[in-house]
Amino acid sequence: MKKRIVVLGAGFGGMELTTLLSESLGDSVEVTLIDKADSFVFGYAKLDVLFGREPPEAVHLPYRDFVKPGVQLRRETVTAIDPQARRVTTDAGAYEADVLVVALGSDYDFKATPGLTPGRDEFYSVAGAEYLREVLPKFTKGPAIIGVCGAPFKCPPAPSEAALMLHDYLTERGLRSNCEITLVLPLSKAVPPSPETSDALVVAFAERGIKFMPSRRIKALDAKRSVAILDDGAELPFGLFLGVPKHRAPEVVHQSGLCEGDFVTVNAQTLETKFPGVYAIGDVASQQTPKAGVFAEGAAKIVAASIIADAGKGERPGPHLGRGSCYIEFGAGRVARVDVDFLSGPKISGAFQAPSTQLRAEKQTFGSSRRLRWFGR
Ligand SMILES: Cc1cc2nc3c(=O)[nH]c(=O)nc-3n(C[C@H](O)[C@H](O)[C@H](O)COP(=O)(O)OP(=O)(O)OC[C@H]3O[C@@H](n4cnc5c(N)ncnc54)[C@H](O)[C@@H]3O)c2cc1C
Repeated sequence: MKKRIVVLGAGFGGMELTTLLSESLGDSVEVTLIDKADSFVFGYAKLDVLFGREPPEAVHLPYRDFVKPGVQLRRETVTAIDPQARRVTTDAGAYEADVLVVALGSDYDFKATPGLTPGRDEFYSVAGAEYLREVLPKFTKGPAIIGVCGAPFKCPPAPSEAALMLHDYLTERGLRSNCEITLVLPLSKAVPPSPETSDALVVAFAERGIKFMPSRRIKALDAKRSVAILDDGAELPFGLFLGVPKHRAPEVVHQSGLCEGDFVTVNAQTLETKFPGVYAIGDVASQQTPKAGVFAEGAAKIVAASIIADAGKGERPGPHLGRGSCYIEFGAGRVARVDVDFLSGPKISGAFQAPSTQLRAEKQTFGSSRRLRWFGR
């Protein structure tokens, strides 16, 4: 009987993992990939949709184009996970696994921020980015807030990118001098692992008159008064609110007993959970790296190599080193890059490359290379 590998979630982590398994093991194993959505959207594409750089329909990559030998992609919703028995229930059936990989990403915990409405006050969901794209043209004067409701959150530079992109958006429309922009961030620095990146962002904020409030989070929104309430009780009025909700593993993962706190506890080097044969990768896990696609991919590589080694087809992997590069929109068409290293040395490090148009091209290649690898186009 073929080994049964069940992967939950076809995001950055799930797609890279199953692609690697397909490349090395083909149909010598039975790989089932389960996702409730009909298409994939790159996280950064939400910023492009929000600021009108891409039409919403252009950023959806349909899963029907994800075709890999040996991999069955099922469009189903996972409703229960039994990690002890490695059994998964969906709205369409049940799966028994020899190896189970949970890659269900991060969900948003709207209850944690009273007054924050899903799909309206936040740009971290596709629905929210699409809704706010229609709101932006109506904002012509007054205070705008980019407000983060809790850490950790996906792609730590993204709220800073949103502030810089909002500055450009308002400038291009001749409205910038009528508006104030404030960024509320529950981190001590814009990009904590890289002081150089954080300093460059602080300079960029100052040059553009963006008010930066680090070490603060949005505690609640009072929509009637159009006021954001911060964790220290301060109140900030707004005419436009672009929020980042508090993150949490999906409810089905919490119910499985895999979580401690908001996310799944894993061995950061191997991505194993406390249940034999059960791994968790990417945003769903506390993998001691930021929540970003590039680290979900890095974790997928380690788990794929372990499964491939177990099948006698390759070397056993070393530990996950938690290295990755993130691209940061700096406005005016330029992109910067930070290369971070979380787990390989005694200290976390982050090297900065200043914004340039060359790095914009590199970011485009980051996206197009994944698109080609996973979707064949
Ligand atoms: C504004 C923004 C900008 C970003 N920019 C970058 C960037 O520049 N670079 C970068 O590397 N990262 C970026 N990210 C972060 C990146 O998108 C995520 O970290 C990455 O997608 C995480 O990958 P994952 O595989 O863990 O989860 P995901 O890609 O989120 O995939 C999880 C999958 O699980 C599925 N799922 C969830 N629950 C269920 C269920 N019950 N049943 C079935 N399926 C389910 C979902 O449909 C989803 O497809 C950005 C994110 C945002 C919001």
